[in-house]
Amino acid sequence: MPIVAWFGSIDAMQPDMIRRLKDGIGLTAVIPDDYTPHHSGFRLPDDVLERGPIARWQDHPVRVERHRKTIGLGPNATPVFPGIAPPAYDDSKLLRLLDEAEKLGVEVWAHLGLWGYGGDIFPELALHDDQGNTIAEEYLYWGVPICPNNVAVRDWTAECLQYIARHYGFKAMDVDHGHFPPPASLASLFGCCCPRCAARARDLGYDFPAMVAALSDLRRRMSSLTLAHFKKAGGLAYNFFDFLSLLGHDTRLLDWFRFRSQVVAEHMAALTQAVHAAVGDACPVDSHLFPPAIAFLSGQDFPTWEGAVDRLTPGWGPVVGWVESQVNSFAVWARKLCAYVDGLDERTALTVIYRLFGYDQLPMPHTVAELVQDRMPVPGVPVAAILALEIEKAAARFSGAKPFLPPFRVQNLTLDELAQVGAVIKSVGAAGFVTGGNFSDDQLTAMRTAL
Ligand SMILES: [Zn+2]
Repeated sequence: MPIVAWFGSIDAMQPDMIRRLKDGIGLTAVIPDDYTPHHSGFRLPDDVLERGPIARWQDHPVRVERHRKTIGLGPNATPVFPGIAPPAYDDSKLLRLLDEAEKLGVEVWAHLGLWGYGGDIFPELALHDDQGNTIAEEYLYWGVPICPNNVAVRDWTAECLQYIARHYGFKAMDVDHGHFPPPASLASLFGCCCPRCAARARDLGYDFPAMVAALSDLRRRMSSLTLAHFKKAGGLAYNFFDFLSLLGHDTRLLDWFRFRSQVVAEHMAALTQAVHAAVGDACPVDSHLFPPAIAFLSGQDFPTWEGAVDRLTPGWGPVVGWVESQVNSFAVWARKLCAYVDGLDERTALTVIYRLFGYDQLPMPHTVAELVQDRMPVPGVPVAAILALEIEKAAARFSGAKPFLPPFRVQNLTLDELAQVGAVIKSVGAAGFVTGGNFSDDQLTAMRTAL
């Protein structure tokens, strides 16, 4: 039986709805998220909560308020953090869902965030760039990571996962934010360069000072790009390597991105192993992936990542979603480049950006206003073709050893387009899919027919 998982609000996961999706598309699992605590609604023992490196977050009301405002969270919402942030939460909603889902023969998978958020509340734990800075306020929306080599945060997160796996008996864990931000956060590409990361790089055999020097050279070369460079790059259809040559063809930069991917995978593998140490194979672990177009720049090298998790599952929403994360990144890059390169227009910038990320084959819009609005794709953006491209690319990059569950999203798709995406999911031999949001009867029929 294929795996069919539904990621959404715990409040929407009522027995009638679960039954409807089971009958409609063969639902086998739900992944509940409660938007107030930013996880599935667990309650941790007080001593575990108090041991957490983020336990004292309420001591920073100004930072917390800025975080809530930037991300668009309600006044009572816990900031997005790794693990479970205090105060202890009433888990009655989750207990109800576990009970009802079991009666309906549907699995419940746990959801919570990892180290990709929280650095804006705890700057002393945060990612630092090559110049020793934390991420500037303009990039807060995309997440301010905690250093991925912070072993205290990692070990405590592992303790949270172990407790949850044992106590609630989840059938899987589908966690999120176990990666750097998307490249829309340009600042994050230059971190983490803290002393912990320098030490880890040395242990792994990297020349850390050389990589930091390359980042500094990259800043210099980027600031010397001119309109003529972009006109040439657009007119001559520069590929990624051609464009990189404008920035110096620096192999130390490739080392830098490989190093980032390696530490991201190490962190994830340690958490996966911790859960297995607690409950054996009873609870497979996976963590949301970026679409392949931007995954490597966000610290997820697919072949390396594949070894760190039990299954391969997609991200959702404006920051990690398989349409939104890359179109938002394209939009931020285009706006930035136009602001810094004299005379550069969005059409020329986007032409080059699409080419670099393999999007020149799709009918993409020529202005940022036609691409994204409120961080969502504008009607007319070829969402189905984008999903199809990314799902096929991902399937081609994985070895096939781990189950791949692509995103089968319904938002912004016509029934014909749903059929098109479903056909691609089928054609790549996926082990199933993850879907999200709400569904009309017609959409359920289109999904079922496609598969
Ligand atoms: Zn670091």
